[in-house]
Parts: sequence; C-alpha cells; structure tokens
Amino acid sequence: MKIVVLSGGVGGARFLRGIVDAVDPADVTAIVNVGDDLEVLGLSVSPDLDSVLYALAELADDERGWGRADETWNALVTVEALGGEAWFRLGDRDLGLHLVRTQALRAGDALSTVTARLAAALGLDTTILPATDHALRTWLDTPNGSFDFQHWFVARAHRDPVDRVRFEGAADARPAPGVLEALHETELILVAPSNPYVSIGPILAVERIRSALERRRVPCVAVSPLIGGEAVKGPAAAMLRRLDGGTSAAHVAQCYAGLIDALVIDEADAGDADAVTELGVRPIVTRTLMRDAASRRALAEAAVNAVAVT
Ligand code: GDP
Ligand code: CA
Repeated sequence: MKIVVLSGGVGGARFLRGIVDAVDPADVTAIVNVGDDLEVLGLSVSPDLDSVLYALAELADDERGWGRADETWNALVTVEALGGEAWFRLGDRDLGLHLVRTQALRAGDALSTVTARLAAALGLDTTILPATDHALRTWLDTPNGSFDFQHWFVARAHRDPVDRVRFEGAADARPAPGVLEALHETELILVAPSNPYVSIGPILAVERIRSALERRRVPCVAVSPLIGGEAVKGPAAAMLRRLDGGTSAAHVAQCYAGLIDALVIDEADAGDADAVTELGVRPIVTRTLMRDAASRRALAEAAVNAVAVT
C-alpha cells in the first residue's frame, strides 16, 4: 500500500521509523517541512529533512532527539573561539552533510534533487521530498518582536509566546517535483505527530498541497503530538493554548479541519474522543508514546489500520 506522510523533524522522524517497520519502506513518501531551514556559517541547513534522513538511516541520536549519534563538536568549538556564529549547534558529522548540500545548491541543484541524492547515498528506499524547493520560511510574531523560526526556537528557546505564525514566501511556493504525484497516487495520507503550527503548517501553506488534501479521494489520518493535553517535547501545547484556546484532542483535530478523516489520540486523552467525533473526525485511541522500536511500530500500525475502519 502506497503511503504519504507529512512530517516535521523529531516527532515526524520517530513516526516514520515506525512506518517503515510496519510497511515496505519503498512504498512510503515523506513530504517534509522546510519552514525551519536556515543559512548559518554560510551553510544551507534543513533541520527537519536531516532529522528524517538521519532517523531512517539509523544515524540519529535518539537520546538528544536531534542530530547524529556519536557526534563531536570540534568545529563548533573552533567557531566559538574565533568569535563566529555558534548559537545554532552543528556537530562535526552533521557538518559534512551541510557541506555537500550547500555545494550542490550553489551549483544550481534544487533542494529536492540534493535530498534525493543524499537519501540514495544513505541507502534509503523511502522517498524523501521537501514540501517545496522554494524558500518558504516560518516567522513567529510575539509580544517581544518577530523572529524567524530558528531564532525563536533555538536562540530564544521558544520562550516568547506566539501571537501569529507566518510563512514568508508561501504565496510563490510550488510543491517540489514528486509531491503532487505522490499525493495523487497514494492510497493513504498520514500526518505525523509533529507540531501542527510550525511543522505541518508550513507544508499546508503551499496552496497546492493543501488543496490536494482538501480534494483527496483517499483517507487522511493524523496522529496527535499531545499526550494528556501536553506536548511530549517542544511548544505545541503552549501554542495550541494561546492560538486556539485549549489542548484537547478536539483542538488538535480543529487544526486540520477539512483535511483529516481520523485522528489517533493517546489513551490519556480518551475523554476527548466524543468531541473529536462531533467534528466529523474518527478518534482512534491507543498508546502514542514512541519510546522504542516496538512502540513506534505499534503506533504506525494503528495509524495505517485506521483506514480499514474509516
Ligand atoms: P521538530 O520539527 O523537530 O520540532 O519535530 P516535529 O514537529 O516533527 O515533532 C515535535 C512534536 O512531536 C512535539 O509536539 C511532540 O509532542 C511530538 N512528539 C515527540 N515524541 C512523541 C511521541 O513519542 N508521541 C507523540 N504522540 N508525539 C511525540
Ligand atoms: Ca522542525
């Protein structure tokens, strides 16, 4: 069965690992957020694409939750000692990938082309596509000013409450080659347990991706990134509270109004199931914490099998 997964970084990458355990990896296409991409030290960095690449290639640092395992930081220590830009943490092994990508982009390759080459070099059978090859960038308006995603998230540790999320360049962004084709050919669309505003939001800000979901002829199943109304990690719950007035599973479902047929929610949120149903979305209650290979796979299977009953 062909499956498309919309994904951010860490939550999305963990979920994708479960998916490629549950189904044939070659049948899976990941459409990945590029709203957090940045240029740092002259290098083009795509954090969410890299999280997905590293996770599927089993190179990721599971404990830290981002970047590569067995990482060292010599280059960054040197940068700092020399008074360079050291707020964004790039490890030595990670830097190698950014060098290769940056050179290819400068030579005129599209991000989707470079990403396909990196995935092939890492031996992956799964198709990994940036949502768009255009520069689509997430900005956060806060009471303390407006920040691009990484300055808000990393440099300011996402402490500033968010009043508005904006996607610069979205109006001109077309889906990357392969994205609409994958959405057209797929038998199932999944939305990973990623942040709805800053991971899935930028993907849906590409108008033709959103309209492909609106007009889908196949089921679309999202997995909630909240457990017991709280994020496993990161600002999702704080954002839901401030931007949409609450953190119930129904609030998550509302982020995807008109786009999903089912929402996988945690047992801790089972009390929200009726409110989800009232929105016309089928709630699937299961354990959603991905702490190891078995739990990742079980969650992936719950999402894939939601189809049978949708
Ligand atoms: P980012 O781009 O690295 O911020 O990653 P994502 O947006 O893809 O993932 C962040 C979201 O993943 C957060 O909102 C977390 O609550 C969610 N998340 C992380 N681990 C888990 C998990 O084990 N289960 C569930 N349900 N959500 C998770
Ligand atoms: Ca991200």
